[in-house]
Amino acid sequence: MTDPKNQDRDLQTRIVQPEDRITPGFESFSVPVARASTVVFPDLATMRALVWHDDSKWRYGLHGTPTTIALAQRLAAIEGGEYALLQPSGLAAISNVYFGLVTAGDHVLVPDNAYGPNRDHADWLAHDFGIEVTYYDPMTGAGIDALIQPNTKLIWLEAPGSVTMEVQDVPAIAAVARARGIVTAIDNTFSAGLAFKPFDHGVDISVQALTKYQSGGSDILMGATITRSEELHKKLKLARMRMGIGVSADDASLVLRSLPSMKTRYEAHDRTAFALAQWLKARPEVAAVLHPALADCPGHAFYERDFKGGAGGLFSIVFDERYSAAQVDAFVEALELFSIGWSWGGAHSLAMPYNIRSMRTASQWPHEGVLVRFYIGLEAEEDLRADLEAALVKAFA
Ligand SMILES: *Cc1c(COP(=O)(O)O)cnc(C)c1O
Repeated sequence: MTDPKNQDRDLQTRIVQPEDRITPGFESFSVPVARASTVVFPDLATMRALVWHDDSKWRYGLHGTPTTIALAQRLAAIEGGEYALLQPSGLAAISNVYFGLVTAGDHVLVPDNAYGPNRDHADWLAHDFGIEVTYYDPMTGAGIDALIQPNTKLIWLEAPGSVTMEVQDVPAIAAVARARGIVTAIDNTFSAGLAFKPFDHGVDISVQALTKYQSGGSDILMGATITRSEELHKKLKLARMRMGIGVSADDASLVLRSLPSMKTRYEAHDRTAFALAQWLKARPEVAAVLHPALADCPGHAFYERDFKGGAGGLFSIVFDERYSAAQVDAFVEALELFSIGWSWGGAHSLAMPYNIRSMRTASQWPHEGVLVRFYIGLEAEEDLRADLEAALVKAFA
């Protein structure tokens, strides 16, 4: 690779344009971090022949580099999709779906248990962008048919809801949507694409917050949209390009680094979470345990039917209604191994109280007591159980 011409150039030029940009013959397990805004073309004809939707050509760092594309392809493979796009957060992926698929005058259906910022995004589109939004009871199943309008373009699903854990009858809703020519998009973050395969159940687009299990470290924000449809992929890609949302190769390489351990981590979270959920169910302070693998959870039968590979680390409990919100706050603050914080998917356990009634508009929330959502990390089960027990005794004795 030695270019004799370069020896005669100024040091400054040789620093900017070294001869050894890549090292031939070097191999490792990691995908190289290919940082780029500028992508260099061999000649003008190559540059002029580019078409924005050709995934096989490099155009500009924002649209993809070898690092980001490697991650996108691995994510598509996990869920059995064909195409994937990365966005700078899970919420940006949700936004990409809206801006890629709906426009003023269109109607969107959103489940009442949707991820809070998705609701807020939908409300924003309804308020400022002329999009009609209807929230629906997540347990409606094929009853979704009654809510479809001539202008309905998109139906969101989320199963389970990441706070209240209802498991939707996804195939029933997807079948109705497909028969009426409406696109379905599922926020599949809960299952990491491991335990639930949306495309096998008739869903068109899967959205992942890679911020969660894929990153696994509570230190990266990223999202993805995955689909089997070239037409939908192109729509999402065009919107993403116009919104100018891409991801850095450095962040993508960190997610690539965590991905090989994701299934093992998911199974470990699942084992401990299920054991603790069962233990909490037997506690007198707890009125209901909302874990998809337990019968208390709405849609438990759909979970049993459609999920293969566990529920990961997330579940919620509802405290007996005799306890005040202040007492439940005291319980959360008495926990030592559970931190207070948003998001999940990392190694550390988390707990967060929620007032569900204030988050619903289309369905009746049946519980009077306060809900606490747990995220079970990778700590030892017996230590987490002892911590929960001590906090229960401290707050409610
Ligand atoms: C965290 C989360 C998101 C959004 O991910 P961010 O990267 O934090 O924007 C979307 N959906 C669900 C269910 C989530 O838990």
